[in-house]
Amino acid sequence: MLSSRVHKISAGVACLVAAFAGAAVSASAGANSTADVPTFREFESSTYVDVDGAYVVNGDEAVSTRAELRRFYDRMVGTRTKDNGLVVNTVGGRDDRWSAAQAVNLTYCVSTRFGTRHADIVAAMSAGAGLWEAATSRIDFAYVPAQDASCNVRNNNVLFSVEPVSTSQYIARAFFPSTAKRQRNVLVDDSIWSSGTWEPGDILGHELGHTLGFRHEHTRPESGTCFEDNNWRPLTPYDASSIMHYPQCNGSSADLEFQASDAAGARALYGS
Ligand SMILES: [Zn+2]
Repeated sequence: MLSSRVHKISAGVACLVAAFAGAAVSASAGANSTADVPTFREFESSTYVDVDGAYVVNGDEAVSTRAELRRFYDRMVGTRTKDNGLVVNTVGGRDDRWSAAQAVNLTYCVSTRFGTRHADIVAAMSAGAGLWEAATSRIDFAYVPAQDASCNVRNNNVLFSVEPVSTSQYIARAFFPSTAKRQRNVLVDDSIWSSGTWEPGDILGHELGHTLGFRHEHTRPESGTCFEDNNWRPLTPYDASSIMHYPQCNGSSADLEFQASDAAGARALYGS
């Protein structure tokens, strides 16, 4: 059960990642080996479209529109530098992060549509948020239970919502600080309760890492696989055991635990 679940996670998460990596490697190998690079149309048709219309890329990251997907694709098959744990997402060369004032007031609700699992999600969110909050006093997530009954992306009383989803494509999905409010939610599938050695609090800790602006650690060249793109800036030395590193991408940690390097990266971006 455990291994089949983990395999399922790996397959679901890695299928898109593998396609990206193939495209990037072929593009960087020179003009003679571009045959393996998918056209944008092929890439688009192979990209999962979520229940809210968002394209899901890199396993668990939402892209709002087809135009943004096109830009993502262009970056993917474009330049790939050889040089260059935690890395921050960049948009137009600038860090994708919250302001200092917003970072200590990251409000969220947890949808009552989780039903009998609502209290469990609340606890897992608290655990995941606590990982980053313990790293620096400059980061503070704030649960607003009064908004749980209308907890969705249209609720402007919270910064983001945590909502259930039913999908075989991922365990959970998140967003970046630059993501438009209409797609600023963390979607959680029931498989979070049967994900083997990945504890729910760590899974949501990973997703909350994205909401703070942190990219997958395995996009760094040191991982040797699962390359995504170059739109990030390193904050710490590479760490194969980072909570932001998929274990199945040559990671050195099987359990998705939060590392000292993750705390260091959070302090590097938001202050200590
Ligand atoms: Zn992720």
